[in-house]
Amino acid sequence: MNCPRCGSRTYVQNSRHADSTGYKINKSLLIIAENLISWYTRDWVVRRRVCHSENCDFDGVTIEMIASDIEDMMGQVLKGFGPFEEEEDYE
Ligand SMILES: [Zn+2]
Repeated sequence: MNCPRCGSRTYVQNSRHADSTGYKINKSLLIIAENLISWYTRDWVVRRRVCHSENCDFDGVTIEMIASDIEDMMGQVLKGFGPFEEEEDYE
């Protein structure tokens, strides 16, 4: 995957999936995936990617899922399911 800021190649620093050995290592990665998609599926891989290009400090997290799962998950979100709390309406 190329850097979304500068277009250079990014490098994977860490990868984790739901059943990773060493589950407690790099727990911050797991928490991101657990919060975003584990309500729907356990079939995912989460990766921390860093750009090594000079003058670029991109450091981001990507999540890989089965494409048909993404499509169905988005359909579930449209129906109101998911991990997102409704915002208070103060009007
Ligand atoms: Zn970059």
